[in-house]
Amino acid sequence: EHITYKENPWSGGGNAGPAFEVLVGGLELGTLVFMNLRLDEKGEFLIKGERYSRMSRRIVDTGYGLERFVWASTGKPNIYDAIYPELTADLFAESGVIHELNDERYRTILSEHAKLSGIMSVDTDSKLRDLRKIVVKRLEAAGYKISVEELEKIMTPLENVYAIADHTRCIAFMLADGVVPSNVKSGYLARFLIRRTLRLMEEQKIKTPLHELVLRQYEGIRELIPKNEYNTIKDTIKKMLVLETSRYAETIEKGEKLIRKETAKVGKGGKISLEKLIEFYDTHGIPPAVVQKVAREQGIIVEVPDAFNSIIAERHLKASKKEIEEAEKASCESSLRDDKLIEDKIRDKDMYRYPPTKLLYYEPEHEMDKSGEFTVFSWKDGEVVLDATIFYPEGGGQPCDRGFLEVDNEKYEVVDVQKVGEVVVHILDKKYSKISKKEGIRVKGSIDWNRRMAHTRHHDATHLIIAASREVLGPHVWQTGSQNEEEFARLDITHYAKLTREELLKIEMRANELVLEDLPIEKKFMDRVEAEKKFGFRLYQGGAPTGGWLRITNIPGVDAEACGGTHANRTSQIGMIKIIKSERIQDGVERLVFSAGLAAVKAVQRIENYLYDSSEIISVSPENLPSSVRRFFEEWKSRGKEIEELKRRLGELLSKQLIENAEVVDGVRIITYVSDKDIKELMAISERIVKEEKVLLIFATSKGEKGPSVLAARSKDVNVNCAELVSEAEKIIGGKGGGRADFASGGGGDILKIEEGIKASKEKARRLALGI
Ligand SMILES: [Zn+2]
Repeated sequence: EHITYKENPWSGGGNAGPAFEVLVGGLELGTLVFMNLRLDEKGEFLIKGERYSRMSRRIVDTGYGLERFVWASTGKPNIYDAIYPELTADLFAESGVIHELNDERYRTILSEHAKLSGIMSVDTDSKLRDLRKIVVKRLEAAGYKISVEELEKIMTPLENVYAIADHTRCIAFMLADGVVPSNVKSGYLARFLIRRTLRLMEEQKIKTPLHELVLRQYEGIRELIPKNEYNTIKDTIKKMLVLETSRYAETIEKGEKLIRKETAKVGKGGKISLEKLIEFYDTHGIPPAVVQKVAREQGIIVEVPDAFNSIIAERHLKASKKEIEEAEKASCESSLRDDKLIEDKIRDKDMYRYPPTKLLYYEPEHEMDKSGEFTVFSWKDGEVVLDATIFYPEGGGQPCDRGFLEVDNEKYEVVDVQKVGEVVVHILDKKYSKISKKEGIRVKGSIDWNRRMAHTRHHDATHLIIAASREVLGPHVWQTGSQNEEEFARLDITHYAKLTREELLKIEMRANELVLEDLPIEKKFMDRVEAEKKFGFRLYQGGAPTGGWLRITNIPGVDAEACGGTHANRTSQIGMIKIIKSERIQDGVERLVFSAGLAAVKAVQRIENYLYDSSEIISVSPENLPSSVRRFFEEWKSRGKEIEELKRRLGELLSKQLIENAEVVDGVRIITYVSDKDIKELMAISERIVKEEKVLLIFATSKGEKGPSVLAARSKDVNVNCAELVSEAEKIIGGKGGGRADFASGGGGDILKIEEGIKASKEKARRLALGI
């Protein structure tokens, strides 16, 4: 009798429909949405300013706020105190906030906020301060006098603590679901929340590490996590959050420098624009609160709109909306688009009309068939459709089989195999493109078995490596892409940090152990719902296929995936697995490149060759290579230092000699020196000489940056302008130069005229020294 139903049309995400809100005592506990409309510019229904038209599908979507039931039944002033009583109490205690719910005035303040918070909306730029003003008025009416500032002082720390409690739960769920914090997609959202929480903790002076708060959230949802994964999940999440916390600290440190640069630019009393704030946040990860704090120290006020996060989210939403639309379009039309691509490859459009080809490579009794006899449904212009096939068509990251079709003692090479809808089309080598044959004839087909097995081994190895990665790195690891070739394969996995060499070795070792355990590889078609129930969503490592039936590849206790590729029967058939390298291809995504079977042996031989080639160069055995290379490197470094020292000593000797041989004019020792030393060395000698008394030098080298170089310098007690000496030389050599009175240099011109130029310059020096 307390329930009220309120009719209110619902819209969102491109759909809409009539809806009922279910309320108790003014609190919405649930909704019932009868979705039957879709966004349509020309639609006949107008809902919240957008047009919709009827769609054929009808969906009933109902949502219940389970936590709101708790709130309604406990009578607490707000939902946070109802569902996080212990966590909020501890956070209040740590941040020194007094949270006395028995105080009548305090309770009233909280309740009034709770009642009104519904009018705050992330869609509109609602001002928090306006809300406070309304609360103040309502409190006054209830007999409690309070200023907006006082109210703010009470509410801000409260709101911070509640936000921390709520965010940490959200983070706990996201990370347990396998989201890895990064700069893209759901990973971006996780990082956004983590950083916001860290900032709020900073504001509340909460020293407990973030991971401890997040891990506390699992105590309440323990039974939702598979028992055998509970400890590893906790361990991984701790690692992720410790890493994210330190990354955030680094960002802030770098960020503060950037902010100071900007504040210096705008100057005291200046303004930092919203655009700049967004740039700081989006490009450098610096939250506006940090900008505010640093700018305040420089006497610059920064205004941050309440809706800042919404503005950012809006921008990302727009970007990701576009992405999602593209992805949806791509996935909805992927079969169509793939068909389009294949259509371009296949000339005969009639191919689409044949009955489905029987896929023998999926049938247990035929999956290992290397050849077979088939009936031709169509053989036109070098494109062949058969009643059944052993040829695997390109798909699911696995290239197609190749081989031959044989008829009338004539062999035709199959170079490409494509699936068009349910029909497999065998495409022959170009030179047979004009050949057509009669419908109904029998043909022998055979496939390149080595190629097939290479693909199969790489495919099976992918399953083992993903399983080994989960074991070594944690249950968050998820496959984001894979591709098999004959010689190698690649597998992209989600992970929060760059893979270390040690981790790679562990993954490789574990994958090879699984090979040697000779485990069965089971393949069967299963009902989708049943398969999901049995194996969970981990099935969809390679993406979720459509349709009610799934082909499940299951290595019992190791890995189960919905997968349409070809597989061996036992893991031992894969042979050796060798991980060749790993690289970070995107924030949060690591790419593993590996080889399996004979390709792995070849890979090891290739790596071995690097080793032997290098050993031969320095004439040591491969096992002594590391120590020899280290020794050579150390020697090379110390020889470099020795050479430097020798050059310095040579320079010392040379400068002594040059001074001794100088021509003395009116007490000034004039030194000229032409060489092919590099300019740096000449500079060093010159610097040493001008420390003496009464010296003047003119140096030249044929090895300057732009051909010949000239430099002139003097000690302080000589009254001669060096720039004049350089320009006198360059008049003849033909370069350009200039400088100060005590040091000048020039470059360029004709190498053959250096001697002559220096001679003229020296003559000038003589005259200047004599004061002529
Ligand atoms: Zn597979």
